[in-house]
Amino acid sequence: MIGITVLGSTGSIGVSTLDVVGRHPERFRVVGLTANRDAEGLAAQCRRHQPAHAVMADASAAARLRELLADTPTPPEVHAGPEALETVAALPDVDYVMAAIVGAAGLLPTLAAARAGKRLMLANKEALVVSGEILMRAAADSGATLLPIDSEHNAVFQCLPAEYSRGLGEVGVERILLTASGGPFRDLPIERLASVTPEQACAHPNWQMGRKISVDSATMMNKGLELIEACWLFGTQPERIQVVVHPQSVIHSLVQYVDGSVLAQLGNPDMRTPIAHALAWPERMSSGVVPLDLFAVRRLDFEPPGLDRFPCLRLASETARAGGTGPVILNAANEVAVAAFLDRRIGFVEIATVVARTLDDLPPEPLSGAGIEELLDVDRRARRIAEQNVSDSV
Ligand code: NAD
Ligand code: MG
Repeated sequence: MIGITVLGSTGSIGVSTLDVVGRHPERFRVVGLTANRDAEGLAAQCRRHQPAHAVMADASAAARLRELLADTPTPPEVHAGPEALETVAALPDVDYVMAAIVGAAGLLPTLAAARAGKRLMLANKEALVVSGEILMRAAADSGATLLPIDSEHNAVFQCLPAEYSRGLGEVGVERILLTASGGPFRDLPIERLASVTPEQACAHPNWQMGRKISVDSATMMNKGLELIEACWLFGTQPERIQVVVHPQSVIHSLVQYVDGSVLAQLGNPDMRTPIAHALAWPERMSSGVVPLDLFAVRRLDFEPPGLDRFPCLRLASETARAGGTGPVILNAANEVAVAAFLDRRIGFVEIATVVARTLDDLPPEPLSGAGIEELLDVDRRARRIAEQNVSDSV
């Protein structure tokens, strides 16, 4: 039996992960589940999957969870606070960790799983954007297997040869073609972007996702973060990655080889496919996903991304090229700006403005190599400046 911890189990990826795991009870045993504040949601998951450990964000949420599970015969040990997330990611009887907390809050537990040599199934792209070098090195040093869950990166991984380790050039890859749906506002007249609501931004045409990543998809910051994520995962440079807008979200990404071949991975837009892929790899197992019907899809369209419409994608690409502390600042400013937009404190187009101003106020510098503390310090400073830029723009 494979022991698994799901970090962020009450979220969109967490729920899909437990759905797939629940289809294979002979293969997986849930050891740890974690949530931020949703005690009711986590209690229901604990009843169904009977983990040995559960983690909530703080003591009051943990007390609520204990109360909700008081009548169960074998309640989990309930923990509180961020350090407990690191503990349940690194327990000896945990083999696989699904990293599905949203944002930089997921960084330390994800890193703990990498350091502990687990099979790390990485959905939390912000962790790689903020600390790509440290996370990749930790995984290499401990022998952890890092498998991408983000659908595009999982698709690229599937299109690379089985013997691939590092260095795209060594296996004849010309470039990676990263597909993007273009989000809900791909065709909206640009002047109307200023008045779109959080509800409209979260209504993604093809994917059901958490609110933060849904807004990132609408601004295309998501694709920018994924560009940086791909550079770390596949040991390459932004110049080797082309973003391709593909509105149907059927092709999840492609790899172009020097001989002219282009390999693609296709499927219905359902995250249970990459999740099942990572859980079973190098084998395959059922996921509950409806088989792709090409006759129903009928056509596949492609277009270049409009950088006027999507300034966040341009900012992320520039930041990716500059490196250093840039991606940390970009990510922190974006988290603050998206939260402010979801709270209706700023408009949709101000998300890019806040990110751009924060990058101007705190210009990216080379990393000193001081490790994770340096990154967390830059992250905190960038959040303070971004909050100020949010206040200034209202
Ligand atoms: P979500 O908002 O639906 O879920 C987030 C989870 O993290 C929840 O369980 C929540 O309780 C927990 N959480 C939030 N803040 C926390 C904190 N401060 N401390 C501890 N736990 C916290 O998000 P999601 O859509 O499932 O996305 C999760 C991650 O996966 C993100 O990094 C996202 O970019 C990535 N991802 C998601 C999808 C998708 O289809 N949803 C696709 C690709 C990548
Ligand atoms: Mg993605």
